[in-house]
Amino acid sequence: MNIHEYQGKELLRKYGVAVPNGKAAFSVEEAVEAAKELGTDVWVVKAQIHAGGRGKAGGVKIAKNLDEVRTYAEELLGKTLVTHQTGPKGKEVKRLLIEEGCDIKKEYYVGIVLDRAASRVVLMASEEGGTEIEEVAAKTPEKIFKETIDPLTGLTPFQARRIAFHINIPNELVNQAANFMLGLYKVFVEKDCSIAEINPLVVTGDGKVMALDAKLNFDSNALYRHKDILEYRDLDEEDPKEIEASKYDLSYISLEGNIGCMVNGAGLAMATMDIIKYYGGEPANFLDVGGGATAEKVTEAFKIILSDPNVKGIFVNIFGGIMKCDVIATGIVEAAKELGLQVPLVVRLEGTNVDLGKKILNESGLHIIAAESMADGAQKIVEQVG
Ligand code: ADP
Ligand code: MG
Repeated sequence: MNIHEYQGKELLRKYGVAVPNGKAAFSVEEAVEAAKELGTDVWVVKAQIHAGGRGKAGGVKIAKNLDEVRTYAEELLGKTLVTHQTGPKGKEVKRLLIEEGCDIKKEYYVGIVLDRAASRVVLMASEEGGTEIEEVAAKTPEKIFKETIDPLTGLTPFQARRIAFHINIPNELVNQAANFMLGLYKVFVEKDCSIAEINPLVVTGDGKVMALDAKLNFDSNALYRHKDILEYRDLDEEDPKEIEASKYDLSYISLEGNIGCMVNGAGLAMATMDIIKYYGGEPANFLDVGGGATAEKVTEAFKIILSDPNVKGIFVNIFGGIMKCDVIATGIVEAAKELGLQVPLVVRLEGTNVDLGKKILNESGLHIIAAESMADGAQKIVEQVG
């Protein structure tokens, strides 16, 4: 799960990780009020969306007085911001962060991520801050330094200081920078983050080390033990179909294509998407209804697929192991009865109770195109939507 910058900074502050003073605002009036309360002479008005690259896209504005704060707040609230991370559709700005303007001497990059190959948490840093780390990695990989963290010791002060030296933090600020990284690591571990990225980390004119940006991602599977983090969830930033699916405990991810997929098992779901692409089609979603799905769950899953206006055809690819084919068939028929089925439906069923499942589908009166195999099904649905 992703959270907003201002929420990330609130969390960092609780852990003693230095961030500028700031306040969130949901309206122009709140923005001006927040600016007054901050009592500084330079403010930064920052669009809060779940995407980076806001600076280059005009989502970060420096204001020299309260009138400018108002002007920028008016300009940004309600605006659709298109950054290189939002995709072409962009994201609507509904929240702002009004922050103290910071006298930046130099920008750095610090990130904590999971290295899946090493099965370890890794601290990465670079003196090329402000720019995207992917770009630094491509052009000047020698400017990225890494420390692999042993889970038994955690990040050690020695490692943090070594990274600080490598990225040329001024000597007198190395301990401050090291403490910053230790605090960030503590947040990462205690809150089950999957990413904690500070870009930029800055050294200020008056000798402070602080986070000017904060991108924190959390492992969704661990959210049950972090009620405080769950409160940061912003449903406006999520796909409504995915929100609906999460209510029924379905693994559903929206995609750009037009073939709706209903599959059981994540591996089979991935393979189904692959084979659709292989035959020249584009999947509209990833959907794993799971092993022990009930007819109700299958009905809801099918409804979610049907509610997507991009879907021009549906491919049901089920291997009934724990999941029984008749349960799937019942779910499909229920959903189709309730919502109607205007698009072609290709079904490939195999496994437990397959004959009963086919019987239910055949007697439903629905127009179903039966497939003999996965490849056959994929070809048929691609043909249908083509
Ligand atoms: P994004 O990564 O989405 O572009 P950032 O929060 O990193 O957004 O902001 C972009 C740039 O704006 C930063 O690299 C920094 O130069 C400047 N900036 C951000 N916050 C402040 C601040 N409080 N004071 C001064 N400059 C800031
Ligand atoms: Mg940034």
